[in-house]
Amino acid sequence: MPAPTERKDLAATKMMKEVMGRYYLELMSGRQEGKKTAWCTSVGPAELLRAMGFNVYFPENHGAMLGATRMATDLIPLANARGFSPDICSYLTSDIGSYLKGESPFHKMKMAGPPRADVLVYNTNQCRDVKDWFQFYAREWNAPCLGISTPRAIGELEPSIIEDVARQTESLVGPLEEVAGAKLDPARLKATVELSRRCTVLWKAVLDTAVSVPAPITFFDDTIHMGPAVVLRGHADAVAYYEVLLAELKARIAAGVAAVDGERFRIYWEGMPIWGKLRDLATQFAELRTAVVASTYCNSWVFEDLDPADPFRSMARAYTNLFICRSEDYKEKHLEHMAAKFRVHGILYHDSKTCPNNSNNRYQMPQRLQARTGRPFLVVHGDLNDLRLYSEEQARTNIEAFVEQLAGA
Ligand code: SF4
Repeated sequence: MPAPTERKDLAATKMMKEVMGRYYLELMSGRQEGKKTAWCTSVGPAELLRAMGFNVYFPENHGAMLGATRMATDLIPLANARGFSPDICSYLTSDIGSYLKGESPFHKMKMAGPPRADVLVYNTNQCRDVKDWFQFYAREWNAPCLGISTPRAIGELEPSIIEDVARQTESLVGPLEEVAGAKLDPARLKATVELSRRCTVLWKAVLDTAVSVPAPITFFDDTIHMGPAVVLRGHADAVAYYEVLLAELKARIAAGVAAVDGERFRIYWEGMPIWGKLRDLATQFAELRTAVVASTYCNSWVFEDLDPADPFRSMARAYTNLFICRSEDYKEKHLEHMAAKFRVHGILYHDSKTCPNNSNNRYQMPQRLQARTGRPFLVVHGDLNDLRLYSEEQARTNIEAFVEQLAGA
């Protein structure tokens, strides 16, 4: 059998592009139509903002676009020159570099943008960088910057933590109403949370199809198809899209269609994607007949705790019950569970230089998990956006050797 080298595109991709295109168009034309724009961190209170009628923009999505188009590496030094260290989040530095230079992937899509914020709303559940990032723009534009401070390294999700985060989320309503010039409609919030919950259920079902052997979808596909789960949760378009994608994946399973022809091995990807190298990595793994079947990253937009009957407390629980803000013990157990569930042969840890928050290889977790489960691991050093921190040659050689090791096991 000849070695497969190309990613097998899903037919649903066309619909996803339409859905995302519509979202971007609405975002960019919002100001002319008198709509206010709220910037939101990727795991921030999107449902609240959407229910209040804001156009909701996620700068981390722009960060990923800067990485995927490989524009980031040239833009990061501009932010460094303005005092942002090369060691901090390269989404932040590439996005601020993009702003300073006036260059964005949106321009290649013939769109003005990114949209200027009327208000910026963060949640520190993922990291502190998002707060510093939003505060930069708040100073630039003299716009209000509001936020939720979530504890980190949480072991048990104590009710007191949930209550505190719920109270902080509720306290955003007054200042947001001032910016929006309208009152929050509780019924609209419930409806938005319900749409977000349905999106989550479907997105999780999409990711879980890769439990099948062979897997009908890989991590590299997930990074493309996750777009609506990130930027359109709480919107009917995301629900409609994942219904179509899930149906296609179920049909693939029924017909025995594999995402990677001749799948021999299955791997779990822990850590950030390397946005500028996704295609090359997908091709290499396909050539090695190895499917990267699951990841922590793409599962980060699964919010099963959302409940329209109790919007604020359930949002607090959903956005605190995240892998990234949990304790080392919790993370270790979660990875063990995911490795077993997806029947992986090994775990690849991406040590992303500028995101320690998403690099879980640094305190001996891989060694502990290998000792307990017998599953080998590989650490790939790189970065989410800054390709100067990634040695492609070294990564290729190490991945090849890792798969050989799996074959010999
Ligand atoms: S979690 Fe990492 S990649 Fe995401 S914004 Fe924070 S530092 Fe950047």
